[in-house]
This record gives sequence, C-alpha cells and structure tokens, in this order.
Amino acid sequence: MFMAVESTLPTPVRTPASDKDAKVLQFIEEMTKNVDSVQERVLREILGRNAETEYLERFSLNGATDRETFKSRIPVVTYEDIQPEIQRIANGDKSPIFSVHPISEFLTSSGTSAGERKLMPTIHEELDRRQLLYSLLMPVMNLYVPGLDKGKGLYFLFVKAETKTPGGLLARPVLTSYYNSDHFKTRPYDPFNVYTSPNEAILCVDSFQSMYAQMLCGLIMRDEVLRVGAVFASGLLRAIHFLQNNWKQLAHDIATGTLNPKITDAPVRECMRKILKPNPELAQLVTMECYEENWECIIKRIWPRTKYLDVIVTGAMAQYIPTLEYYSGGLPMACTMYASSECYFGLNLNPMCKPSEVTYTIMPNMAYFEFLPHGSSTSCLVDLADVEVGKEYELILTTYAGLCRYRVGDILRVTGFHNAAPQFRFIRRKNVLLSIESDKTDEAELQNAIENASLLLKEFNTSVVEYTSYADTKQIPGHYVIYWELLVKDSAIAPTDDVLNRCCLQMEESLNSVYRQSRVADNSIGPLEIRVVENGTFEELMDYAISRGASINQYKVPRCVSFTPIMELLNSRVVSKHFSPDLPHWTPERRR
Ligand code: AMP
Repeated sequence: MFMAVESTLPTPVRTPASDKDAKVLQFIEEMTKNVDSVQERVLREILGRNAETEYLERFSLNGATDRETFKSRIPVVTYEDIQPEIQRIANGDKSPIFSVHPISEFLTSSGTSAGERKLMPTIHEELDRRQLLYSLLMPVMNLYVPGLDKGKGLYFLFVKAETKTPGGLLARPVLTSYYNSDHFKTRPYDPFNVYTSPNEAILCVDSFQSMYAQMLCGLIMRDEVLRVGAVFASGLLRAIHFLQNNWKQLAHDIATGTLNPKITDAPVRECMRKILKPNPELAQLVTMECYEENWECIIKRIWPRTKYLDVIVTGAMAQYIPTLEYYSGGLPMACTMYASSECYFGLNLNPMCKPSEVTYTIMPNMAYFEFLPHGSSTSCLVDLADVEVGKEYELILTTYAGLCRYRVGDILRVTGFHNAAPQFRFIRRKNVLLSIESDKTDEAELQNAIENASLLLKEFNTSVVEYTSYADTKQIPGHYVIYWELLVKDSAIAPTDDVLNRCCLQMEESLNSVYRQSRVADNSIGPLEIRVVENGTFEELMDYAISRGASINQYKVPRCVSFTPIMELLNSRVVSKHFSPDLPHWTPERRR
C-alpha cells in the first residue's frame, strides 16, 4: 500500500536567522567543545548541593564532589531499587531524601513498574532546564529551513489526566507538566515558533475536544502552516485518522462558523468563538480533499506550504515511517530531540537528515551522564567524553533532581562526534516487546496477561501451548495481535468465540496502565486481537528458525515477531480471529 517516496531535503542555509539564534548556536558550540569540563562541573554542582541528602549520606559521600569518590561509593540503580524512597516521598515525606530542593511534583513516565507508570520526582528548576533544551531547537532548524518566521506550526499537543499522590504531590506526564507551566503558557512571542493551536485547546484534558479544536484551527489557518507535527509519529497519525473520521463535521463548522456542540469545554469554546468565522470556500476545499477515497499526500494537499514534519520517528516510532511518507507525500521528517521524564537529554544537530541517520547530541549541561557498555558489568561505566564510536551503551543518569546513577533503560550507539560531544543513535529501549505509541509492554507483562486470560479457558479443558505477539500498526490506531496455539482436550466443549473475545479483554485488563490509558482515554490503541493458529504452527516456526541456522538446543519461541516470512507463516495458519469486545478499566488513580 505504501510507496517509499524520495525525500526532498532542503540544503542547509547555515547562517543564523537572527542575533538571538547566533547566541544559541554559540552556546551549543561551547557546550559541545567542553563536554568533559561541563560534566565535571555538573557533577560537582549536583553533589555539592545535595551533600546532605539522606541518599548521598547513606553511601558516605561525606561531601565529596569528585568523580572518583562518586563512582566508587554510589551504586548504579534501577527504579525498583529506589522505589521505597520514592514511595516515601509520594506518601508525604518532605525530608531531603534525594534532593535538598523540595520535590515540586512527580513526573509519570511511560515506563512502568508493576503495571503502573514510574514516578519520577522532580524539582521546580528542572523546568528551566527543559525550557533551555527547547530553546536550542529552532535556531538549529533555522539553519536548514529558511523562512519559518513567515508562517505557523500545526502541532498536535496534548495534556493527560493528573492525579495526586497520597502525600498531595501532583503526578502527571512531563509534557502535561510543561504545557501547564508558565514557561509554556506565557512564553514570549517568537516569530519562529508560532503555533496554530491555542493554549486553551492544548490544555483541554478531553482528548476528543482538544484534538477537534486543534484540527479546526489547523484547517482555518491552512495557508499559514509551514510545518506539521506532534511529539511522536503515532500522535500525528492519530490526528490524520481523526480528520478521516471527523472532516464532515469540521467542514460544517467552517462553512457555518458555528462550533460542534460536542465541544463543551468553556475555555475552548470561548477561544474558538474568536477564531471561527464562516468560510464556505475553505469548507468546500476541505470537503473536496477529504471526500476522496485516496488519502495519499493528504498533508501536502491540505497544508500545501508544509516544509517538513516535526515528529520523532526513531526507536519504536520507526514503524510509522512508511505510513507517514504515504500521507505526507515524502515530506522530510525532523526528529529534533531526545528526552524523557527523568531528564531532557539532547538534540539532533542535523534535523533534516533521513530518519535512518538521526543522531542525538547529548547536552552536557543537562545532567551527569555515564555509559554502561552494552553487556558489561556496572563496574565498567564510562563518561560522556570517553565513549567510543561504533559501541553500544546503556544510558545512566545523575540528575539535579536527585537521581543518582540511574539506569534509564535506553540503548544508544555512538556514531560520531560534534566537537567533543558524542552523537548517539537511539537503538532501542531495553525489555520492550510491544509498543504502539507510548506504551511499553515487556515479556513478563505479556506472559502474565496470557496466564490471566488462559484461566478463562480452564473450564473448556483448553490451554495455551504457545504464543507470540505482533504490534500491528498498518491501521490507525494500531493494536496488539497475539497468536495462540491451543490445546483443546475435548473438542465437544471447545472455547466459543465469545470466550476467546473475553480472553482478549482479560489480557487488556492485565496490561499496564499506560496501555489501558491509551485504549480508554486516548483511543490511540485499538482492541487487542487473538489469532488462533493451527496445531503444529509453532513447531513449523521452530523448523523455519533452524533452517536459518538457529540451534535446536537453544531455540526459544520469539515472544514478538515482525519478520515478514514468519508473519506470513503465522497468518497462513490462522483458524480464527477474536477481538476485545470492550474497553479495559482505567482511571487516572494508580492501583498501587
Ligand atoms: P517518558 O519518560 O515516558 O517520556 O519516555 C522517555 C523514553 O522515550 C526515552 O527513555 C526513550 O526510550 C523514548 N524516547 C524519547 N525520545 C526519543 C527519541 N527521540 N527517539 C527514540 N526514543 C525516544
């Protein structure tokens, strides 16, 4: 269905667009030239200010701020190692556990622990650091794409539900925190960074109303749009899918100048009242473009001045590149930054490169970074300035907010250097089997979900003998597909279609809260599907792997598949397909 379209990459202009840009670019040069000394300073600052925290005192750092003492005394940890302390903070302990600065809120990461989002304590000043990284992006982009001050960016940006921990601290995703901050809400006017979406639409928690208003504004301002984006590729595709489902109503609103009554959020209604005026000509154009069966190039057709898409298509998002190429007619895709709830890491200094060539330069002022050579023991960590080209590393962080030698779980490969700063290709996230958007399902979670679902088969004297999985992103929204080989001991009471549908739902109930939130609140993951395959299919799969050189002794059933011949084999053996008949449970409140 999808054609690979050659990107037309603009030639870099390479002169700063303004004095302000020149200063920012100079800052990047300084940071990347002095990586090691900046890192030394950052560690000194972090350890100096947090010397009296419970955590550093526990390891007898005794006020030392040098690398050797730090490395010899502080252990490398995972989230689970520090969870008891995190829980104390969540329960209201205000003593300086990780940081002498008060914990301002928790950022809920899309990585989960025991089925719930990880809670990352943060401090107020981290907002400045995040803002600083954002401020580097446009000056770099302006080197490659001239004239971005002559129009606007259509960005689909969303906030998610917030909760409070038992101790009263807010817990919300990092972007929800950022969009709600004054840093974002009262940002000074910058002609290079004007969005079509009003703050009211971005800050509306109802995902339908927020998307509707943002799309409506994007359509109304179509002549001004120079770039189209979302944080991740999956978000932009969701927006296109939304347009497919709602263009008639949107065109109606534009034709009549009246707002869809389903938009009930008062601030959104109020701001749309000022923006929405009857424009039958535009409504007709939208209708003409969307009415067509063929949606190829739809982005270029509706927003003809678009110069590039601003979306992350690295890591788990790479699966969406062909679909985005199809809808955009081969527009360049800029992956501008690499960030997480724990810390914003760095940016892409060549943002118009091909997705397969994207590298991120970690900014040494953001945190103290160490690198664990992939597969080595935690005693072999190397510093940011000392990583070697071609090698893969796991990223380890020490942050101003108080995380110390914390394993993020990302695997990066060094591809080269900008000045003294290494540039990294994002390879993968550790232990992620399935991902459609921000959900990250690991092998243990999938296994647990299968076990829970197969309990429903017991009364039918049936068990799951083998399984594997696949993240199907051919349609929007994507969905999980689970292949099951069943052992039906008594065919007279084989499980019915209804039972197998309920198994799908039971699996969904067992998956982590990020998955369930995407299903329920965001509608960004479709119903889970079970495909029952013929008996003997998994043995054939093994024969196939062995024919390609796998060892019989060491063969393990892959718990996730994507390789085309294996998919073809599995799909040719499917005897029945079943879908989750309902939404799983999800509320913003944490289960634990
Ligand atoms: P979260 O803490 O939920 O914001 O998720 C952060 C994680 O998303 C990172 O640790 C990465 O695994 C992934 N991520 C963030 N930015 C990128 C990027 N530019 N390319 C690939 N993966 C990314």
